[in-house]
Amino acid sequence: MNVIVCAYGEIHLKGANRGFFLRKLERNIKGILPQTTKVTVTDTRVLVTDYTDEQQTVERLQRVMGLISIKVCQKVNYTQPKDILAHLKKLKINGKFKVEINRANKNFPIKSPTFAAQCGDLILQNNAQAVVDVHHPDTIVQIEIRNNGVAYVATGAQKGLGGLPVGVSGRAICLISGGIDSPVAAFLAMKRGLAVDFVHFATPPYTSDLALAKVETLCRQVCTYGHEAKLYIVPFTEIGSRIQKNCHDQYIITLMRRFMIALTEKIGLANGADCIITGENLAQVASQTIQGITSNNFVAKQLPILRPLICFDKEEIVNLAKKIGTYETSILPYQDCCTVFVPQHPAIKPNLTDVLAEEEKLDFDTLVNNSYNAILCKNLPNTYAE
Ligand code: ATP
Ligand code: MG
Repeated sequence: MNVIVCAYGEIHLKGANRGFFLRKLERNIKGILPQTTKVTVTDTRVLVTDYTDEQQTVERLQRVMGLISIKVCQKVNYTQPKDILAHLKKLKINGKFKVEINRANKNFPIKSPTFAAQCGDLILQNNAQAVVDVHHPDTIVQIEIRNNGVAYVATGAQKGLGGLPVGVSGRAICLISGGIDSPVAAFLAMKRGLAVDFVHFATPPYTSDLALAKVETLCRQVCTYGHEAKLYIVPFTEIGSRIQKNCHDQYIITLMRRFMIALTEKIGLANGADCIITGENLAQVASQTIQGITSNNFVAKQLPILRPLICFDKEEIVNLAKKIGTYETSILPYQDCCTVFVPQHPAIKPNLTDVLAEEEKLDFDTLVNNSYNAILCKNLPNTYAE
């Protein structure tokens, strides 16, 4: 019988919180798999059984944050070492291989290195094309000897995503623009255990329904990592236009960002967020110099702003976007509000005093409240909900 055995990463470090972390992990795994699949979380492993489509199950488990490896194993019941050896006789191995033993059962009568050698000898006897190579094996035969008279034998393992189960670190609200960076920022925040909701600032008629659909697609793509989320769509045309009309050109982007942060904090506080996430990246564009970032940093009074990509190179962000599956959507050519209102020469090092003086020309609170009162909220369900 096959069992998918998953190992989890940092959870073992969590002391008193371990139970909480494991319950979240279990819930997240169950949420990504069909209801008929059985998921059992043990002290050190997650066992997945009763699935119908093995490949699909493995692929979905590779989307669960917190898992570090996923192995399709044969389950072997044993009372003595020879029971496991008898099973190994059936293994077909070609080329270079090595055996790794994980002996959770400390009463197992043979120590790991000796048993690994015995298993290796047996595989060599039964497979004419097999050779041992402990440094560069093509196949690693992994044998986990558990306590309850069960061993798991695998000849390959898939890497898991790593990180922590989504939800263990609290909730975040992520500003998502439709570009390459913000979905990646959301993904990285989720990987450290934050359940992420999204906020997008739309400027119709300057930005189209297609641009909005693109943002929704991006959010849904992030949600394929076994996550459900809300997408708040905030009308931003009035704010953008007022800034453009009343304030000095070079501060338009800075002021827009300040309004965005203020609105995001308001939405976040009303909906249980613990922090704000942006896709900002140091010095990527003129508005993201340290002075540019500083000038929107203190708008939020209660929620911290986390910027997971702050020190990434663009190439690293692009590679991650490709890996998580958002890149192709992100590069679709629709306009964002920042491109609509972007001035020719934004202030590269905006001075906060000057920015505040420009902002004084506007009725900040009224504009925020007007937008806030016209927000549209979309529920993005778990992609795998049955
Ligand atoms: P991205 O950063 O997502 O690739 P971008 O680089 O075009 O898009 P920037 O102009 O760099 O976006 O904006 C920096 C950050 O500000 C974005 O990562 C995002 O978090 C936020 N942001 C910008 N525009 C919007 C918007 N229209 N709605 C929500 N958030 C936005
Ligand atoms: Mg960016």
